[in-house]
Amino acid sequence: MTKILVVEDNEDLAQVVRSYLLFEHYEVENVFNGREGLSRVKTYDYDVIVLDLGLPDLSGIDVLKGLRESGSRTPVLILTGQNSVEEKEKGLDAGADDYVTKPFHMKELGARIRALLRRPPPIAGNNTISVAGVTLDTSKFQVTKGGEVIQLVNREFQLLEFFMRHPNQVFSAEALLNRIWPNTSSSASQALRTTMKRLRKKIDPEGTLIRTVHGVGYMLETETKNS
Ligand code: CA
Repeated sequence: MTKILVVEDNEDLAQVVRSYLLFEHYEVENVFNGREGLSRVKTYDYDVIVLDLGLPDLSGIDVLKGLRESGSRTPVLILTGQNSVEEKEKGLDAGADDYVTKPFHMKELGARIRALLRRPPPIAGNNTISVAGVTLDTSKFQVTKGGEVIQLVNREFQLLEFFMRHPNQVFSAEALLNRIWPNTSSSASQALRTTMKRLRKKIDPEGTLIRTVHGVGYMLETETKNS
């Protein structure tokens, strides 16, 4: 059975999340502070950890860092406050896999968790990710497709890496900006469009890998090819 740990100090919210996840047939454990959260994640195996960042003792970021330092790659979904782009950035930098912003709809939380569970587990100690015939090596800063090296500049590489780490999930331009660009100004939006265009031209000239979901955003699609 899929086991989820919820680290959230707000008891009302924790209860709502718990009820929803139980209804969705997950096994759920709740803890209400960071210290206990960290000790649990180091001791037991979970399939997904839902982690609030604003905790009374040890912050969510510290829990996350402790978890990743222990070598665990368990997917972590962080819960962040509104308008806290920095918090999200910090969380993602510390090794979170995704986030939802409070207040959130339980269905969104459910969808994010399902997406994390669908993700192929990363191979420990390996710096390469392979998705749909494309291989990205973060240590060599190299991308190959069908055995051929494809030259990418830094931002294109980052964008591709992000998509490859989150296949089959749709991201709005805003979400991509929040995760990849240091700021979200209008010039950054333009830069994202340009980078996306160049990346597609280099890596996906047939337009079969990175799909535009009209009115929503972009996604790297593997399911039709691999499953
Ligand atoms: Ca909190």
